[in-house]
Amino acid sequence: MDDALRIDDLVKEYPIGSGRRRSIVRAVDGVSLRVRRGETLALVGESGSGKTTTALCALALERPTSGEVWIDGREVTGMSPKELRSLRRQAQYIFQDPFASLNPRMSVREIVREPLDIHRVGDSAGRDARVAELLGLVGLAGDAAARSPHQFSGGQRQRIGIARALALSPGLLVCDEPVSALDVSVQAQVINLLMDLQDEHDLAYLFIAHDLAVVRQIAHRVAVMYLGRIVEEGAADEICAKPRHPYTVALMSAAPARPGRGVHRERIVLTGDPPSPIDPPSGCAFHTRCWKAADTCRTVRPPLIELDPGHAVACHFPVRRDTELG
Ligand code: ADP
Ligand code: MG
Repeated sequence: MDDALRIDDLVKEYPIGSGRRRSIVRAVDGVSLRVRRGETLALVGESGSGKTTTALCALALERPTSGEVWIDGREVTGMSPKELRSLRRQAQYIFQDPFASLNPRMSVREIVREPLDIHRVGDSAGRDARVAELLGLVGLAGDAAARSPHQFSGGQRQRIGIARALALSPGLLVCDEPVSALDVSVQAQVINLLMDLQDEHDLAYLFIAHDLAVVRQIAHRVAVMYLGRIVEEGAADEICAKPRHPYTVALMSAAPARPGRGVHRERIVLTGDPPSPIDPPSGCAFHTRCWKAADTCRTVRPPLIELDPGHAVACHFPVRRDTELG
Protein backbone atom coordinates (compact mmCIF):
# COMPACT_ATOMS: atom_id res chain seq x y z
CA MET A 1 0.00 0.00 0.00
CA ASP A 2 1.22 3.50 -0.76
CA ASP A 3 2.42 5.67 2.09
CA ALA A 4 0.23 8.62 3.03
CA LEU A 5 3.34 10.76 2.54
CA ARG A 6 6.80 10.03 1.24
CA ILE A 7 9.54 12.61 0.88
CA ASP A 8 12.73 11.74 -1.00
CA ASP A 9 15.89 13.81 -0.63
CA LEU A 10 14.08 17.13 -0.31
CA VAL A 11 16.15 20.29 -0.63
CA LYS A 12 14.74 23.79 -0.27
CA GLU A 13 16.88 26.88 -0.70
CA TYR A 14 15.79 30.48 -0.28
CA PRO A 15 17.73 33.36 -1.79
CA ILE A 16 18.26 36.13 0.75
CA GLY A 17 19.73 39.62 0.64
CA SER A 18 20.48 41.47 -2.57
CA GLY A 19 23.40 42.65 -4.69
CA ARG A 20 26.76 41.67 -3.23
CA ARG A 21 25.05 40.63 0.01
CA ARG A 22 23.08 38.02 -1.86
CA SER A 23 23.33 34.52 -0.49
CA ILE A 24 21.36 31.35 -0.01
CA VAL A 25 19.74 29.72 2.99
CA ARG A 26 19.45 25.98 2.68
CA ALA A 27 16.40 25.57 4.91
CA VAL A 28 16.03 21.87 4.12
CA ASP A 29 19.11 19.89 3.14
CA GLY A 30 18.26 16.41 1.87
CA VAL A 31 15.35 15.22 3.98
CA SER A 32 13.73 11.83 3.35
CA LEU A 33 10.83 10.54 5.38
CA ARG A 34 7.64 8.55 5.15
CA VAL A 35 4.34 8.61 6.97
CA ARG A 36 2.23 5.48 6.70
CA ARG A 37 -1.55 5.52 6.65
CA GLY A 38 -3.05 6.00 10.08
CA GLU A 39 0.37 6.84 11.54
CA THR A 40 1.75 9.89 13.31
CA LEU A 41 5.29 10.93 12.50
CA ALA A 42 6.49 13.71 14.77
CA LEU A 43 9.06 16.10 13.35
CA VAL A 44 10.99 17.75 16.17
CA GLY A 45 13.90 20.15 16.47
CA GLU A 46 14.70 23.66 17.59
CA SER A 47 13.26 26.69 15.87
CA GLY A 48 14.90 27.26 12.48
CA SER A 49 15.73 23.61 11.85
CA GLY A 50 13.54 23.47 8.72
CA LYS A 51 10.40 21.76 10.01
CA THR A 52 7.89 24.22 8.58
CA THR A 53 9.70 24.40 5.26
CA THR A 54 9.62 20.59 5.02
CA ALA A 55 5.90 20.62 5.79
CA LEU A 56 5.11 23.36 3.27
CA CYS A 57 7.02 21.51 0.55
CA ALA A 58 5.22 18.28 1.51
CA LEU A 59 1.86 19.85 0.65
CA ALA A 60 3.14 21.76 -2.39
CA LEU A 61 2.63 25.07 -0.60
CA GLU A 62 6.29 25.73 -1.37
CA ARG A 63 8.19 24.49 -4.39
CA PRO A 64 11.21 22.32 -3.51
CA THR A 65 14.59 23.20 -4.99
CA SER A 66 15.05 19.48 -5.59
CA GLY A 67 13.74 16.16 -4.39
CA GLU A 68 10.40 14.45 -4.64
CA VAL A 69 7.20 14.36 -2.63
CA TRP A 70 4.62 11.62 -2.95
CA ILE A 71 1.16 11.75 -1.41
CA ASP A 72 -0.86 8.55 -1.65
CA GLY A 73 1.47 7.34 -4.38
CA ARG A 74 1.16 10.47 -6.52
CA GLU A 75 4.16 12.70 -7.16
CA VAL A 76 3.31 16.22 -6.05
CA THR A 77 6.05 18.54 -7.27
CA GLY A 78 5.18 18.36 -10.95
CA MET A 79 1.42 18.69 -10.50
CA SER A 80 -0.72 21.02 -12.59
CA PRO A 81 -3.01 23.50 -10.77
CA LYS A 82 -5.92 21.17 -11.41
CA GLU A 83 -4.10 18.19 -9.94
CA LEU A 84 -3.07 20.33 -6.98
CA ARG A 85 -6.71 21.17 -6.32
CA SER A 86 -7.54 17.51 -6.17
CA LEU A 87 -4.52 16.98 -3.89
CA ARG A 88 -6.22 19.29 -1.37
CA ARG A 89 -8.85 16.61 -0.89
CA GLN A 90 -6.13 14.21 0.16
CA ALA A 91 -3.96 16.37 2.36
CA GLN A 92 -4.56 19.43 4.52
CA TYR A 93 -2.49 21.79 6.66
CA ILE A 94 -3.27 22.84 10.22
CA PHE A 95 -1.44 26.00 11.18
CA GLN A 96 0.19 26.91 14.44
CA ASP A 97 -1.66 30.13 15.04
CA PRO A 98 -5.44 29.71 15.16
CA PHE A 99 -5.77 33.49 15.45
CA ALA A 100 -4.02 34.35 12.22
CA SER A 101 -5.21 31.40 10.14
CA LEU A 102 -8.97 31.99 10.25
CA ASN A 103 -10.46 34.86 8.25
CA PRO A 104 -12.15 37.18 10.79
CA ARG A 105 -14.59 38.47 8.17
CA MET A 106 -16.12 35.04 7.59
CA SER A 107 -18.55 33.17 9.82
CA VAL A 108 -17.55 29.79 11.16
CA ARG A 109 -20.02 28.21 8.72
CA GLU A 110 -18.37 29.96 5.77
CA ILE A 111 -14.89 29.00 6.96
CA VAL A 112 -15.69 25.32 7.37
CA ARG A 113 -17.86 25.23 4.24
CA GLU A 114 -15.37 26.94 1.95
CA PRO A 115 -13.48 23.77 0.92
CA LEU A 116 -16.83 22.12 0.09
CA ASP A 117 -17.80 25.15 -2.01
CA ILE A 118 -14.46 25.24 -3.81
CA HIS A 119 -14.65 21.53 -4.61
CA ARG A 120 -18.39 21.70 -5.36
CA VAL A 121 -19.21 18.85 -3.01
CA GLY A 122 -22.98 18.13 -3.02
CA ASP A 123 -25.65 20.85 -2.94
CA SER A 124 -25.98 23.81 -0.59
CA ALA A 125 -28.18 22.02 1.97
CA GLY A 126 -25.80 19.05 1.91
CA ARG A 127 -22.85 21.33 2.57
CA ASP A 128 -24.57 22.97 5.55
CA ALA A 129 -25.39 19.54 6.93
CA ARG A 130 -21.74 18.53 6.52
CA VAL A 131 -20.65 21.71 8.36
CA ALA A 132 -22.93 20.79 11.27
CA GLU A 133 -21.52 17.27 11.27
CA LEU A 134 -17.93 18.55 11.23
CA LEU A 135 -18.55 21.01 14.08
CA GLY A 136 -19.98 18.11 16.10
CA LEU A 137 -16.95 15.99 15.25
CA VAL A 138 -14.57 18.56 16.75
CA GLY A 139 -16.76 19.17 19.78
CA LEU A 140 -18.28 22.54 18.94
CA ALA A 141 -21.95 23.31 19.52
CA GLY A 142 -24.22 23.73 16.50
CA ASP A 143 -24.79 27.44 17.17
CA ALA A 144 -21.07 28.00 16.56
CA ALA A 145 -21.73 28.08 12.80
CA ALA A 146 -23.37 31.49 12.79
CA ARG A 147 -20.69 33.14 14.88
CA SER A 148 -17.42 34.77 13.94
CA PRO A 149 -14.05 33.16 14.79
CA HIS A 150 -13.04 36.08 17.03
CA GLN A 151 -15.83 35.12 19.44
CA PHE A 152 -13.96 31.93 20.27
CA SER A 153 -10.99 31.04 22.47
CA GLY A 154 -7.71 29.77 21.01
CA GLY A 155 -8.56 26.12 21.62
CA GLN A 156 -11.99 26.51 20.02
CA ARG A 157 -10.48 28.30 17.06
CA GLN A 158 -8.07 25.44 16.56
CA ARG A 159 -11.11 23.13 16.57
CA ILE A 160 -12.62 25.28 13.82
CA GLY A 161 -9.38 24.97 11.84
CA ILE A 162 -9.46 21.19 12.31
CA ALA A 163 -13.12 21.01 11.19
CA ARG A 164 -12.22 22.93 8.05
CA ALA A 165 -9.21 20.70 7.40
CA LEU A 166 -11.43 17.61 7.71
CA ALA A 167 -14.19 18.90 5.43
CA LEU A 168 -12.99 16.98 2.37
CA SER A 169 -12.14 13.80 4.34
CA PRO A 170 -8.37 13.90 3.76
CA GLY A 171 -6.11 10.96 4.62
CA LEU A 172 -3.19 13.17 5.68
CA LEU A 173 -3.02 16.17 7.98
CA VAL A 174 0.13 18.20 8.34
CA CYS A 175 -0.07 19.78 11.79
CA ASP A 176 2.49 22.54 12.28
CA GLU A 177 2.83 23.01 16.05
CA PRO A 178 -0.98 22.98 16.32
CA VAL A 179 -1.10 23.42 20.10
CA SER A 180 1.96 25.51 20.91
CA ALA A 181 -0.04 28.76 20.78
CA LEU A 182 -2.65 27.37 23.19
CA ASP A 183 -2.87 27.37 26.98
CA VAL A 184 -1.42 24.21 28.50
CA SER A 185 -4.83 23.22 29.90
CA VAL A 186 -6.36 23.36 26.43
CA GLN A 187 -3.46 21.64 24.65
CA ALA A 188 -4.36 18.22 26.04
CA GLN A 189 -7.96 18.55 24.82
CA VAL A 190 -6.89 19.37 21.28
CA ILE A 191 -4.28 16.57 21.30
CA ASN A 192 -6.91 14.11 22.50
CA LEU A 193 -9.26 15.30 19.77
CA LEU A 194 -6.58 14.75 17.12
CA MET A 195 -5.87 11.25 18.47
CA ASP A 196 -9.59 10.34 18.50
CA LEU A 197 -10.01 11.64 14.95
CA GLN A 198 -7.03 9.60 13.84
CA ASP A 199 -8.55 6.41 15.23
CA GLU A 200 -11.96 7.07 13.73
CA HIS A 201 -10.81 8.19 10.30
CA ASP A 202 -7.49 6.36 9.86
CA LEU A 203 -5.73 9.70 9.44
CA ALA A 204 -2.00 10.06 8.94
CA TYR A 205 -0.30 12.99 10.68
CA LEU A 206 2.94 14.74 10.00
CA PHE A 207 3.03 16.40 13.37
CA ILE A 208 5.52 19.18 13.98
CA ALA A 209 6.26 19.88 17.61
CA HIS A 210 8.92 21.17 19.90
CA ASP A 211 7.16 19.97 23.04
CA LEU A 212 8.48 16.47 23.65
CA ALA A 213 5.77 15.66 26.19
CA VAL A 214 3.23 16.11 23.39
CA VAL A 215 5.37 14.00 21.06
CA ARG A 216 5.54 11.14 23.56
CA GLN A 217 1.77 11.16 23.75
CA ILE A 218 0.82 11.38 20.10
CA ALA A 219 3.62 10.04 17.90
CA HIS A 220 4.25 6.53 16.61
CA ARG A 221 7.57 7.54 15.13
CA VAL A 222 9.83 10.54 15.60
CA ALA A 223 12.25 12.27 13.23
CA VAL A 224 14.66 14.77 14.77
CA MET A 225 15.84 17.67 12.60
CA TYR A 226 18.93 19.77 13.04
CA LEU A 227 19.86 22.52 10.60
CA GLY A 228 17.86 21.16 7.69
CA ARG A 229 18.74 17.50 8.11
CA ILE A 230 17.30 14.50 9.90
CA VAL A 231 19.79 13.39 12.54
CA GLU A 232 17.79 10.61 14.18
CA GLU A 233 14.64 8.70 13.38
CA GLY A 234 12.81 5.78 14.94
CA ALA A 235 9.88 4.50 16.97
CA ALA A 236 8.69 7.12 19.45
CA ASP A 237 9.18 4.87 22.50
CA GLU A 238 12.69 4.07 21.42
CA ILE A 239 13.68 7.67 20.63
CA CYS A 240 12.25 8.92 23.92
CA ALA A 241 13.72 6.13 26.08
CA LYS A 242 17.00 5.48 24.27
CA PRO A 243 18.01 8.44 22.11
CA ARG A 244 21.34 7.79 20.39
CA HIS A 245 22.20 11.12 18.77
CA PRO A 246 23.78 13.56 21.22
CA TYR A 247 21.41 16.26 19.96
CA THR A 248 18.36 14.12 20.71
CA VAL A 249 19.81 13.22 24.11
CA ALA A 250 20.15 16.93 24.85
CA LEU A 251 16.59 17.67 23.65
CA MET A 252 15.22 14.86 25.79
CA SER A 253 17.16 15.83 28.85
CA ALA A 254 15.85 19.38 28.57
CA ALA A 255 12.27 18.10 28.52
CA PRO A 256 10.57 17.57 31.85
CA ALA A 257 10.73 13.85 32.71
CA ARG A 258 7.47 12.00 33.01
CA PRO A 259 6.39 11.91 36.62
CA GLY A 260 6.67 8.60 38.42
CA ARG A 261 9.27 7.03 36.18
CA GLY A 262 11.83 7.09 38.94
CA VAL A 263 14.72 7.17 36.52
CA HIS A 264 17.34 9.74 37.27
CA ARG A 265 18.46 11.39 34.11
CA GLU A 266 21.48 13.53 33.83
CA ARG A 267 20.67 16.92 32.44
CA ILE A 268 22.60 18.05 29.41
CA VAL A 269 22.31 21.70 28.68
CA LEU A 270 22.50 22.78 25.05
CA THR A 271 24.46 25.98 24.99
CA GLY A 272 24.04 28.70 22.43
CA ASP A 273 21.68 28.97 19.50
CA PRO A 274 21.82 26.61 16.55
CA PRO A 275 24.30 27.84 13.91
CA SER A 276 22.94 29.73 10.91
CA PRO A 277 21.88 27.65 7.90
CA ILE A 278 23.38 30.42 5.73
CA ASP A 279 26.86 29.27 6.77
CA PRO A 280 26.48 25.83 8.34
CA PRO A 281 29.39 24.19 10.18
CA SER A 282 31.53 21.71 8.24
CA GLY A 283 31.25 17.97 8.84
CA CYS A 284 28.50 17.23 11.34
CA ALA A 285 26.51 20.44 11.75
CA PHE A 286 26.04 19.67 15.44
CA HIS A 287 29.77 19.48 16.23
CA THR A 288 29.93 23.09 17.45
CA ARG A 289 27.58 22.24 20.34
CA CYS A 290 28.38 18.56 20.90
CA TRP A 291 30.22 17.29 23.97
CA LYS A 292 31.39 14.21 22.06
CA ALA A 293 32.77 16.00 19.00
CA ALA A 294 36.13 14.75 17.73
CA ASP A 295 38.22 15.70 14.69
CA THR A 296 36.24 13.49 12.32
CA CYS A 297 33.05 15.31 13.28
CA ARG A 298 34.51 18.63 12.15
CA THR A 299 35.38 17.33 8.70
CA VAL A 300 33.20 14.35 7.73
CA ARG A 301 29.43 14.59 7.60
CA PRO A 302 27.95 11.46 9.20
CA PRO A 303 25.36 9.67 7.06
CA LEU A 304 22.01 8.60 8.53
CA ILE A 305 22.57 4.91 9.32
CA GLU A 306 20.19 2.33 10.72
CA LEU A 307 21.84 1.25 13.99
CA ASP A 308 19.00 -0.92 15.22
CA PRO A 309 16.05 -2.09 13.10
CA GLY A 310 13.93 0.98 12.34
CA HIS A 311 16.23 3.30 14.32
CA ALA A 312 18.56 5.47 12.26
CA VAL A 313 21.17 7.92 13.55
CA ALA A 314 23.53 10.33 11.80
CA CYS A 315 26.46 10.43 14.21
CA HIS A 316 30.07 9.21 14.24
CA PHE A 317 29.86 8.51 17.97
CA PRO A 318 26.29 7.58 18.84
CA VAL A 319 25.49 7.52 22.53
CA ARG A 320 25.52 4.02 24.03
CA ARG A 321 22.77 3.85 26.56
CA ASP A 322 24.20 0.92 28.50
CA THR A 323 27.41 2.65 29.42
CA GLU A 324 26.73 6.35 29.05
CA LEU A 325 24.31 8.59 30.88
CA GLY A 326 22.77 5.71 32.81
P1 ADP B 1 11.31 25.67 11.73
O1 ADP B 1 9.90 25.49 11.28
O2 ADP B 1 12.00 24.40 12.13
O3 ADP B 1 11.43 26.71 12.82
P2 ADP B 1 11.71 26.91 9.14
O4 ADP B 1 11.42 25.86 8.14
O5 ADP B 1 10.66 27.92 9.39
O6 ADP B 1 12.17 26.22 10.51
O7 ADP B 1 13.04 27.69 8.73
C1 ADP B 1 14.25 27.03 8.42
C2 ADP B 1 15.29 28.07 7.99
O8 ADP B 1 14.91 28.62 6.74
C3 ADP B 1 15.42 29.24 8.95
O9 ADP B 1 16.76 29.63 9.01
C4 ADP B 1 14.58 30.30 8.30
O10 ADP B 1 15.05 31.59 8.64
C5 ADP B 1 14.78 30.02 6.82
N1 ADP B 1 13.59 30.39 6.02
C6 ADP B 1 12.36 29.84 6.10
N2 ADP B 1 11.51 30.41 5.21
C7 ADP B 1 12.24 31.34 4.55
C8 ADP B 1 11.95 32.28 3.48
N3 ADP B 1 10.73 32.36 2.93
N4 ADP B 1 12.95 33.07 3.06
C9 ADP B 1 14.20 33.00 3.61
N5 ADP B 1 14.53 32.16 4.59
C10 ADP B 1 13.58 31.33 5.06
MG1 MG C 1 8.12 26.28 12.11
